[in-house]
Amino acid sequence: MATLGNPKNTIEILNKYQFMFQKRFGQNFLIDTHVLEKIIKSAEITKEDLVLEIGPGIGTMTQYLCENAREVVAVEIDKNLIPILENDTLAPYDNVTIINEDILKVDLNTLVQEKNAGRRIKVVANLPYYITTPIIMGLFEAHVPLKNITVMVQKEVADRMQAGPGSKDYGALSLAVQYYATPYIVANVPPNCFMPRPNVGSAVIRLTLHEEPTVKVADEAFMFRIIRASFNQRRKTLVNGLTNAAELSVSKEQVQSALEQLGLPVTVRGEALTLEQFARLSNLLKG
Ligand code: SAM
Repeated sequence: MATLGNPKNTIEILNKYQFMFQKRFGQNFLIDTHVLEKIIKSAEITKEDLVLEIGPGIGTMTQYLCENAREVVAVEIDKNLIPILENDTLAPYDNVTIINEDILKVDLNTLVQEKNAGRRIKVVANLPYYITTPIIMGLFEAHVPLKNITVMVQKEVADRMQAGPGSKDYGALSLAVQYYATPYIVANVPPNCFMPRPNVGSAVIRLTLHEEPTVKVADEAFMFRIIRASFNQRRKTLVNGLTNAAELSVSKEQVQSALEQLGLPVTVRGEALTLEQFARLSNLLKG
């Protein structure tokens, strides 16, 4: 079986199976071996690891994962790709399980229990961009035991995940990701590394899960409601943003008093607060 990851071998497989790309599944297959090697290297895959791959496509990255990991589980929604994976591109490997399912419907905690005795796994993917945020937030919020998540995402989304206070990209996604993990942008990837070419730039980002939470929060869900309300009305002061939010019932006086206790001006905007400050603010308002 010829190694995929270059345009010639990819086209050969696509022609052999008369595969038709499905736009609705966000199918942009990688055709650049340097990018593939970079992803595998930055995910720090070893022969101890169980790796979950989301959306293997024709199995390009899966082949690299099978070579480097102990075991691979690949979840692919498109049933037309399953015969290609099973009978052709992944046929030489006995350490891979292919599941034909929507990743958002898979019970990953049970899978990790069964396949890895509940020990932490790694996730690697060239993600379908239409569901990047639900996939990543789903992994975090379900508390799937994870070491790291190394994924190709839209460049703009990678920037938002990594942004800090004061940056135009800083927002609810930055805080949600950084609450659970440390982000690191591994590489920017241009459209010509994919087939077909996407019409946006891409980036590989690695999210290394915190072993212990870096901030203490009494009520996580409440903190995230505060964060969302703060960024919903970006140009408003935090006091106005929070008191206007329907999903919160906090008074102007409560918010002003909490800000004073944090040593912040009452005119401050949400985009200036760190994760630590949002955690302390939500603890004060909850109390
Ligand atoms: N990993 C391959 C590669 O790098 O060449 C393909 C990446 S392509 C950007 C995204 C893949 O995810 C496609 O194969 C697509 O069919 C699959 N996919 C899309 N939505 C999915 C979902 N909800 N669950 C599982 N796989 C999905």
